[in-house]
Amino acid sequence: MKIAVLPGDGIGTEIVAQAVKVLEALDLNLEMEHALVGGAAFEAHGHPLPESTLKLAKESDAILFGAVGDWKYDKLDRPLRPEQAILGLRKNLGLFANFRPAICYEELVGASSLKPELVSGLDILIIRELTGDIYFGQPRGRRVSPDGAFAGADEAFDTMRYTRPEVERIARVAFEAARKRSKRVTSVDKANVLETFQFWKDIVIEVHKDYPDIALDHMYVDNAAMQLVKEPKRFDVVVTGNMFGDILSDEASMLTGSIGMLPSASLNTKNQGLYEPSHGSAPDIAGQGIANPLATILSAAMMLRFSLNQSEAADRIEAAVKTVLAQGLRTADIHSPGTQKVSTAQMGQAVIKALA
Ligand code: NAD
Repeated sequence: MKIAVLPGDGIGTEIVAQAVKVLEALDLNLEMEHALVGGAAFEAHGHPLPESTLKLAKESDAILFGAVGDWKYDKLDRPLRPEQAILGLRKNLGLFANFRPAICYEELVGASSLKPELVSGLDILIIRELTGDIYFGQPRGRRVSPDGAFAGADEAFDTMRYTRPEVERIARVAFEAARKRSKRVTSVDKANVLETFQFWKDIVIEVHKDYPDIALDHMYVDNAAMQLVKEPKRFDVVVTGNMFGDILSDEASMLTGSIGMLPSASLNTKNQGLYEPSHGSAPDIAGQGIANPLATILSAAMMLRFSLNQSEAADRIEAAVKTVLAQGLRTADIHSPGTQKVSTAQMGQAVIKALA
């Protein structure tokens, strides 16, 4: 079982280091090979996704990814920016299905910004389409001013686009996932305004005919954003496009207490997957040893379950995370009075200890 380990930038290196230690502690005979990605790869090789990194990713059974990006790269041409690395990996490996479970651990009910009764027992699964939509539309507007800034430009544009196979396959993924849960899917769109999402909605309805056992409803994205904070437990599986999924899953993360708790899996048709926390490189706290590593550690658990067929080991990691939370250990983002504040490394160590 070969894993490409791509820590990336900012807190990416700190949190991935902890997840790697947890994987090593499981003694599963995993072959883990590190490579540079994002700003770190740009510094070393002049490109955020060097050929060697892409090759390693393609050859591996799974990819453990940290995060990429830093404000200092904001002036670079779009193709050289760190964030292009993750888009490139998704596109090149065909990682079209992004699973983002938002689970509120009982111990963190108080860390959520919502009232405890709204989030207690929360367990929703956001399924985000990952290789289409406006993030991959062509053509994209180009900057025109000579200094590379937008100040002198008159216009910028991106195009929103979905194809029938793209919508069909993500709809099937959602209905299949719902079969293993409470058999409910909410498809989130903006069909009232955007042609692309009327198309999305019509195709979801077509695919649904093959899943009569699943209840399907539709919601506009603005209403979904509101319902997520008003009555989040009304949702079970939520399926949506790339951009809406990006935004809604960040919103959902706060229901769980912190974005530092939210893992994700991005899968292709061969079950090869990229596993990463839902958050970014957090330049504001990078290098301080205070980032929450649990989203990355939980992403490693998803990797063991989905791509490496090691469900038992995945269960062990998830149980260990629950144990450390029950012990009252908290990184700064989830800390509250009466709990013990720990560093990134201390949290990682505690999870390893709890594995036993
Ligand atoms: P972010 O997710 O990096 O940070 C948002 C806020 O959450 C910050 O206050 C940060 O300190 C906090 N936070 C994030 N992860 C945390 C953790 N594990 N523990 C504790 N606190 C945490 O989003 P941003 O600030 O909008 O973006 C920063 C950079 O990350 C940008 O360059 C952006 O493009 C990039 N980004 C990368 C990815 C990715 O690599 N997949 C995803 C999102 C953003």
